[in-house]
Amino acid sequence: MSPTENPLLQVTGLEKSFGTNKVLAGVDLEVRRGDVLVLIGPSGSGKTTVLRCLNGLETPDAGVVAFAGGPSVDFAAKVTKADRTALRDRSAMVFQHHNLFPHLTVIQNVMEGPVQAHRVPRAEAMERAERLLARVGLSEKRDAYPSELSGGQQQRVGIVRALALEPQLLLFDEPTSALDPELVGEVLTVLRELANEGWTMVIVTHELGFAREVADEVLFFDEGVIVERGAPSELLRQPKKERTRRFLNRLL
Ligand code: ADP
Repeated sequence: MSPTENPLLQVTGLEKSFGTNKVLAGVDLEVRRGDVLVLIGPSGSGKTTVLRCLNGLETPDAGVVAFAGGPSVDFAAKVTKADRTALRDRSAMVFQHHNLFPHLTVIQNVMEGPVQAHRVPRAEAMERAERLLARVGLSEKRDAYPSELSGGQQQRVGIVRALALEPQLLLFDEPTSALDPELVGEVLTVLRELANEGWTMVIVTHELGFAREVADEVLFFDEGVIVERGAPSELLRQPKKERTRRFLNRLL
């Protein structure tokens, strides 16, 4: 991307409270096309809430969320249903727990979003789902039910389900933290491949080795604000802020 090109996503002054609990106290971030942003920070610091606000699962109290070429939504002003839908359609989220429909097969799970939400014709949605399942090595599981898969396979289907929506931005909320340690690698491999293919991604994770390798920028959250941000080689190796240092020391 040339330095003058607009970022894909620009978030300014994002605020969110639950009751009296101010969870986001003015978050600014931008995501350039093809970049991987990794959000780290203690539990409860607001990382998941940022993703949920971007994906329309939570409504911010204030702040502007603007995608290049639109939509641009100012949450301090009146927000329409069309604004919400437009915003939600830009991104797709992969959850900590895969959230697959237990009564649908793998391929039905992957086709569901495109067919129901985007009105993609079934034949086209099926072709897309088959292609994506092949990419993550799960073609032979197309007619299995989620309960018949390992945790790592379920999460790979969760990723494919997000890709099938053809979003501009992929959001991952601790995609490996519910997995047994021996299953983490296969999911990180898929994420690595997506990064190499140029997908734009925002990932909440505690996998610092992965962040060091794949992130273009790491943002350290604490108490609803971004305390420090930078290239992984700087932030993870030589953090400037004491709070960042303390957090990283606890993880090591
Ligand atoms: P993180 O992802 O950094 O662990 P979260 O964004 O999940 O942090 O949560 C930040 C804070 O917001 C926590 O104190 C959490 O309890 C609170 N919170 C999150 N979602 C809700 C909700 N739906 N209702 C009330 N409080 C919530």
